[in-house]
Amino acid sequence: MREFDVGIVGAGLAGSISATILARAGHRVAIIDPNDTYPDEFRCEKLDFDQIGILRKAGIGDAVLAVATPDRSVWVSRLGHVVEKRASDQLGIDYGTLVNTLRAEFPASVTFIRGKVTAVANSPDRQTITLASGESISVRLVLMASGLSNSLRQSLDMARKDLSVCHSISFGFDVEHAAGDAFPFRALTHFGEHPRSRISYLTLFPIGSRMRANLFLYRPLDDPWLRELRASPEAVLKTEMPRLEALAGPLRILGPVKMRPIDLYATSNYRQPGIVLLGDAFGTACPAAGTGAQKAVIDVDRLCNEYVSRWLATPGMGVEKIASYYDDPVKVASDKRSLARAYRARSMATDQSLFWWAARWASVALGLARWARHGVHDAWHRVRHLFDAPASARSPEPRA
Ligand SMILES: Cc1cc2nc3c(=O)[nH]c(=O)nc-3n(C[C@H](O)[C@H](O)[C@H](O)COP(=O)(O)OP(=O)(O)OC[C@H]3O[C@@H](n4cnc5c(N)ncnc54)[C@H](O)[C@@H]3O)c2cc1C
Repeated sequence: MREFDVGIVGAGLAGSISATILARAGHRVAIIDPNDTYPDEFRCEKLDFDQIGILRKAGIGDAVLAVATPDRSVWVSRLGHVVEKRASDQLGIDYGTLVNTLRAEFPASVTFIRGKVTAVANSPDRQTITLASGESISVRLVLMASGLSNSLRQSLDMARKDLSVCHSISFGFDVEHAAGDAFPFRALTHFGEHPRSRISYLTLFPIGSRMRANLFLYRPLDDPWLRELRASPEAVLKTEMPRLEALAGPLRILGPVKMRPIDLYATSNYRQPGIVLLGDAFGTACPAAGTGAQKAVIDVDRLCNEYVSRWLATPGMGVEKIASYYDDPVKVASDKRSLARAYRARSMATDQSLFWWAARWASVALGLARWARHGVHDAWHRVRHLFDAPASARSPEPRA
């Protein structure tokens, strides 16, 4: 049986970053995934600069930056009106490209095993990971980063606790200006124009030379409206977001229109010896709240930079060691924030009570105030720069 310090189940976002951090810390790491190359799946397509900070700490930030597309500036429209135009530091990237870039950065000491994990036998000492091929490997610690897949958790007596089934539905597609013109913005976030539409927002952002669109909304899976949207997306968007065309121009949607419903769930009975859960394997986030990648990256940062080396430095892998990661205040706050934002985003988009109407108008006022403040700040900066500049820079060019 091959032996390692750490066995990582799943080479997605969380697993791949963990493998690099732990191998660079000098640990013997095996990472197991059924696919050599991460497939073209519709998942998170935008990163924030905060996440790049954590990737930089692991020495892999620049590799991701090299294949991502910065949006640089964004227009934000609420209730159908542009309320803000501001600088932005989000990065557009296909999820497959992101994960495959992270995998390409594995240090040579990482052992990648292609295969599906079918069982994990855990104990306060060593753990055994069994693969579908029949091979077993022995490790001191298992990192379960297997995403949405439930079967392994069940085999360990960990139950999935549904918090909100079909909490939101995400759509992803490419768009272009129907008249062939350039869009007047680099990126746009267009919030639902009326809670009746049950749309959280449509976001347009560049990935390479494409304009990508993500649409997040709240409807039951059997709603015939969803079929209509997939069949004639331009017409449905025109009806539900009548002011969009005035901002973006007429849109042509380029197939395929990908759809993913998301359940919000947590996991119970996860405090077990020898194994830790991270990313979606621990609990999901709502894509409309945009916290899934951040939550996964924070899990990795806390676990791999704060705890694993200390745990491996002493014998045993009892539940008291494992518990310190689950009780980590930064992780706990990140999970709480992610759930709170998921419910808040849903209420902002769909709740017709007076409170949430007030909240929607408050967000309009806040956006306008921020825009005005940036405008004043920008004007003040220009005036100051004018006086700071050397005299030669201020005087007109001498005429020939
Ligand atoms: C449609 C959609 C849109 C989203 N949009 C956003 C967004 O805009 N912003 C945001 O922050 N988040 C978003 N998210 C959430 C974000 O994508 C996830 O939270 C994040 O990618 C989770 O990463 P992970 O590493 O936990 O899981 P994954 O990246 O799914 O990795 C799991 C890995 O485990 C492997 N695996 C599974 N089972 C086994 C097994 N038995 N043996 C071996 N390997 C196994 C899989 O092959 C996979 O490689 C979105 C999610 C979806 C679905």
